[in-house]
Amino acid sequence: MTGLFSWQVPQLEQLRHHFLKQDLAHAHLIDDPAGEGGQGFVAALASTILCERTQLGGCSSCSSCQLQSAGSHSDLLWVMPEDSKQIKIEQIRSVIEWSHQTPQQGRAKVLVLDPADRMNVYATNSLLKLLEEPAPNTYLFLISTSPARLLPTIRSRCQRLNLATPTNEEGLRWLRETRPAADPNSLEDVYAITGHKPISAQALFDSEQMTPRLAMVSALNEWIKGYCGPIETAKKLAAKETPSLPYELLYRAAAIAQRQRFLPQATNQGVFQALIDELAGNWSAKALSRLADACGKALSQSSASNNLNAELSLEHFLMTQREPV
Ligand SMILES: [Zn+2]
Repeated sequence: MTGLFSWQVPQLEQLRHHFLKQDLAHAHLIDDPAGEGGQGFVAALASTILCERTQLGGCSSCSSCQLQSAGSHSDLLWVMPEDSKQIKIEQIRSVIEWSHQTPQQGRAKVLVLDPADRMNVYATNSLLKLLEEPAPNTYLFLISTSPARLLPTIRSRCQRLNLATPTNEEGLRWLRETRPAADPNSLEDVYAITGHKPISAQALFDSEQMTPRLAMVSALNEWIKGYCGPIETAKKLAAKETPSLPYELLYRAAAIAQRQRFLPQATNQGVFQALIDELAGNWSAKALSRLADACGKALSQSSASNNLNAELSLEHFLMTQREPV
């Protein structure tokens, strides 16, 4: 579980303020599709609510905070899928039982469902009862990686909370601080590749996926420059596990290249930046927008079709998409 990030502090302050005024919503749906800090944020919020001093993120010295750090606070219930991939009805039944008990520490109770979209239909129906008849002083936080999968009846009973995101500079600074020995160009590359999502970028940087991902970017750049033909490029790009990845990378590069016209010159020397520079320098705004559209279409097709034709589809895409300046 990750901790609280600096860019989340003002949002946490705001919720603490509502809690102190006793107008904090009874149930929140935390939208965290990319896993960008939802868990850490909710953990800090739970600590704030349960702390005897209501200190931001907990004071770590009161008895409530100590119980929490020992993982034995009876007023905090964090429910995750057990052996299966789903939160089961038995788990929700014990949640309801727990919700009827008075808070042991006398303050409030916090329930977290993580991720809430992994509930089966029985568990969902059971949870609805809890949302319809909220227990006093009980706060529910539903963390969701894909809120669209939750029933509208659940969504409509929760206050939606979009997690605060860092500015590009803030996110990159955090990434650099957490990986001080890393090559700054590679860090900046993965940061841009993941759509400026620092936690996803860190995970990609640490994974075995980084090298093949950067190789894919280089292959796309060779094709853009006209050094490598569509058939050979398609061969290099076709990765059976991730047929949509080349389109995603190109889409992102085209989108950043469009914005780059209005920004100061980037100083990064990474391979992804090289692809962006190539597009920004030699492609017209119209051609970039056409390329982004084509990538968007190819993306939806590649996720709908099977992987067998990935290489052929890529060949076709590359043959039809490379536009002269
Ligand atoms: Zn405390």
